Amino acid sequence: MLFDKGKRPGGRLSTLRIEDWSWDFGAQFLTAGQGAFAVQVEDWRRAGLLAPWQGGPAGSLVGVPAMASLIEAQCAGHAVRFGALVQRIESDGLSWFVSGPGLCEGPFAALILAVPAEQAAPLLSLHDLVLARELAATRSKPCWSVMAGFDQPLQGLPDHFAGIGPIAWAARNNSKPARARGEAWVIQAGAEWSQRNLECNQEAVAQRLLDLFGSQIGIDLPAPNFIKAHRWRFALAYGQVGKVLWNDNLSLGACGDWCLPGQIESAWQSGADLADRVAASLLAQAPDRVSLRG
Ligand SMILES: Cc1cc2nc3c(=O)[nH]c(=O)nc-3n(C[C@H](O)[C@H](O)[C@H](O)COP(=O)(O)OP(=O)(O)OC[C@H]3O[C@@H](n4cnc5c(N)ncnc54)[C@H](O)[C@@H]3O)c2cc1C
Repeated sequence: MLFDKGKRPGGRLSTLRIEDWSWDFGAQFLTAGQGAFAVQVEDWRRAGLLAPWQGGPAGSLVGVPAMASLIEAQCAGHAVRFGALVQRIESDGLSWFVSGPGLCEGPFAALILAVPAEQAAPLLSLHDLVLARELAATRSKPCWSVMAGFDQPLQGLPDHFAGIGPIAWAARNNSKPARARGEAWVIQAGAEWSQRNLECNQEAVAQRLLDLFGSQIGIDLPAPNFIKAHRWRFALAYGQVGKVLWNDNLSLGACGDWCLPGQIESAWQSGADLADRVAASLLAQAPDRVSLRG
């Protein structure tokens, strides 16, 4: 069973869709990767869930019809509850229980926290201080991400920009394959600008970043027909711990992009690594009760 406080599948691969416009306002693309992740990427490509983005950086692949499609596909066929904020994790010594507003679930044989390190730490620290200390070694940089829609295409611009002054990234989302046709731009501030403006008002940030984008590329942008800013407080992990966290005695673990280098690749690989650890642990505890599927 998976609990996610988000309203729909996505996490940091979220996509906003409004009529004829769509914006991937978290992760922008991924690349082929290595090892088991490369095999997964190939499977996603064959299933039509990933496609090359001609207007993106060399070798970039994007989820189709949205970055969130990758997560939607992974949720299909699994028990997932959205809008479920986990505030407490408790153990009676044999099983785990999770609770939060309108949520009280269990028993579970094992518990995994697959959230940013800063969000896992307070939940984990009540049960395992050693793991919590390892978690504290990694941190995330924030990112303000702005979604802007226009009635007409912004002519004469490349489909993406990287590192223009305080703006880390800007892209024409509708240049990605299988997107809605409306002219939709995603503009993401660098970590320093985002940190400095972390607590600023959402509307003010949206307009300031759009203006900043216009001035950095030297054009007078037309008035957008839609503009919204999203604050990712824990956007990009750094200081990765180099491994997943797992306590065999408690059957408690944690994974995410803060485990290994590679962002989306790290998130996926850490989940796969931890799943192997959990399966091996449960098998050792009760070999007759565990059935392992691929
Ligand atoms: C603006 C931005 C741009 C990025 N660009 C790229 C890119 O181009 N390429 C790339 O590879 N990576 C990029 N990344 C990083 C990439 O998105 C992440 O590395 C990856 O998505 C992390 O996946 P995750 O499953 O570890 O975490 P998440 O995607 O954050 O998933 C964690 C989930 O846990 C849920 N959650 C958190 N706390 C709780 C709680 N207490 N109870 C219930 N649910 C909870 C959240 O709702 C979320 O759905 C970007 C990230 C951001 C924010």
